[in-house]
Amino acid sequence: MSFRASILTLYPDMFPGHLGQSLAGRALERGDAAIEPVNIRDFATDRHRSVDDTPAGGGAGMVLRPDVLASAIDAVSPEGDTRPRLLMSPRGRPLTQARVRALAEGPGAVIVCGRFEGVDQRVIEARNLEEISIGDYVLSGGEPAALILLDAVIRVLPGVMGNAASGTHESFETGMLEHPHYTRPQLFEGREIPAVLTSGNHRAIDEWRAAESLQLTRARRPDLLGPEDRDG
Ligand code: SAH
Repeated sequence: MSFRASILTLYPDMFPGHLGQSLAGRALERGDAAIEPVNIRDFATDRHRSVDDTPAGGGAGMVLRPDVLASAIDAVSPEGDTRPRLLMSPRGRPLTQARVRALAEGPGAVIVCGRFEGVDQRVIEARNLEEISIGDYVLSGGEPAALILLDAVIRVLPGVMGNAASGTHESFETGMLEHPHYTRPQLFEGREIPAVLTSGNHRAIDEWRAAESLQLTRARRPDLLGPEDRDG
């Protein structure tokens, strides 16, 4: 079964973007994942093909119309489509590696990319859109956010990463940030690779990595840790 994403956007040419290259590009070529951009404007009904209007109550900017967006959603995701419907939104729940894994285990996603001031609230409710944020900052549109979400999902699809194990030790997968990495040369501008890593003692290496991981997470992201791991 392959992962199928339908993207509702005013800028379909932004897809597949960087996902056409490297690991994701090969997954798309093999058919392990499919990305289908659909232009919201194709569902406009008036002479000017308008998709937005001024905000009720006044204020700056424009808002995406609920009727046009609902038609677009219904066209790509008819009844019986079990894919979750996502709306990229700074007001959404922050995207996590756990949500990424869950999405990758499913049949795909319908992803709505907002523009302007955002989307009429009624279509969010009527079409049961799950709002997802990629961080506490504001983009000019949902397209880069959708590309980031899809990047994270596609890389964990079965068979996409060369070395299957390389997915499971990474930052967030263990609830912590990953330990530092080193490679040759042994000496770089006077800095050595930590001796334990070249000792051949795998137990000591595992312990060193776990300790580094914990220390880094305490320093940078104590919010990821349970109370028992937070100080020390
Ligand atoms: N007025 C809105 C911001 C609109 S930004 C507010 O203050 O909440 C325009 C569009 O960009 C949004 O509809 C959303 O689709 C996308 N976007 C902006 N920031 C985002 C973020 N951090 N995560 C996901 N999508 C984002």
